[in-house]
Amino acid sequence: MLEQLKQEVYEANMQLPKLDLVTFTWGNVSGIDRAAGLFVIKPSGVAYDKLTPDDMVVVNLKGEVVEGRLNPSSDTPTHTVLYNAFPDIGGIVHTHSPWAVAFASAQLPVPALNTTAADTFYGDVPVTAPLTQAQIERAYEAETGNAIVTTFQDEGIDPTAVPAVLVAQHGPFAWGATPAQAVYNAKVLEVVAEIDYHALTLSHKDSHVPQYLLDKHYYRKHGKDAYYGQSNPQSGTHAAHQA
Ligand SMILES: [Zn+2]
Repeated sequence: MLEQLKQEVYEANMQLPKLDLVTFTWGNVSGIDRAAGLFVIKPSGVAYDKLTPDDMVVVNLKGEVVEGRLNPSSDTPTHTVLYNAFPDIGGIVHTHSPWAVAFASAQLPVPALNTTAADTFYGDVPVTAPLTQAQIERAYEAETGNAIVTTFQDEGIDPTAVPAVLVAQHGPFAWGATPAQAVYNAKVLEVVAEIDYHALTLSHKDSHVPQYLLDKHYYRKHGKDAYYGQSNPQSGTHAAHQA
């Protein structure tokens, strides 16, 4: 079942080592078929060079395995919470990419200091509160998802406009309309976090882009008036993947 989505999720997972976003097996991508109410996710702890599309595991929106020989990623409950809470997202990626993890460790958001950030993130990428001992003991991975959802609700952030988050003391989750788009957003976050680290090292002044520059860059690529790149008549979306 969902053979095409399995292929798509497999290919998105294979992008993680290629894009230098994972060390060992520390990462996972999933993608959802909203009509079927099922998502496909990487199996737990399988090396990327051993992975095949057939290894992908199909899970329902309660987090129950529907099909698959292997155990799904241990982060499956986090993905389940996010798919339920954010109905417009089609793919999710989690990595321990080091620059984003540096900000997550320091419990700092990744600020929008430049147009590289503003092209993809309509504002700072937020950081969650650290999980409490009770949350970790109760249902660690699901509570990680709940902490993400709470952060977006409390800070009034639209998860479509800012498609990533840092889980405090852990690392980044990113998402998008498709698994490939989620991986793209995860890589942009890593690049922006690296740039921001250097910018914040060079200067402690508030270097946030002004609202008019944020608006200009974000809306060049997103929404009905986007004009960046080549419009794609098949998907009706603009080519946000192009640099
Ligand atoms: Zn992790």
